[in-house]
Amino acid sequence: MESTLVLIKPSGVIRCLIGDIIARFQHKGLIIAGLKMMQLDEAILHEHYAHLVDKPFFPSLLVSMTRTPVVAMVVKGVDAVAVVRSMTGATNGRKAAPGTIRGDFSMSGQENIVHASDSVENADIEVRRFFKPEEVFNYTDDTFKYLYAPDEV
Ligand code: UDP
Ligand code: MG
Repeated sequence: MESTLVLIKPSGVIRCLIGDIIARFQHKGLIIAGLKMMQLDEAILHEHYAHLVDKPFFPSLLVSMTRTPVVAMVVKGVDAVAVVRSMTGATNGRKAAPGTIRGDFSMSGQENIVHASDSVENADIEVRRFFKPEEVFNYTDDTFKYLYAPDEV
């Protein structure tokens, strides 16, 4: 069972998509194991987007990501990292496939509604970056039999 980090970015918060996005993950059968609203600052964004600090769009990304609070989630399931990335869609909303969150709700390569961890290794780091251990809950073990065959879990 994997856990992955999702952020509903200011572009999703401001466009009143919080409920729709959480519903997509829940309807899929993924478990919300952690959930909170938080105001990001430059320090956490420099860490989170360390691979992008030298890009020309980084200053504008900082403005975009601090415009409103974000909704941070830990999303759990078998192969959750890849499943959530595929539900998120390509980075640029204009290129993201219809049916994905970015494909359905975004026209932008920056204002693209959600962040999702891109690998199991990064998911682990990112969940720990945004959540304390006591903010991640284990309350669903009984429901797995309705979501998976025994040999899938
Ligand atoms: N981004 C941007 N311009 C670009 C590429 C990325 O503003 O040309 C922003 C965009 O919001 C994206 C984030 O930087 O979601 C992180 O970029 P990354 O390449 O990690 O894409 P992601 O993993 O979010 O699809
Ligand atoms: Mg990324």
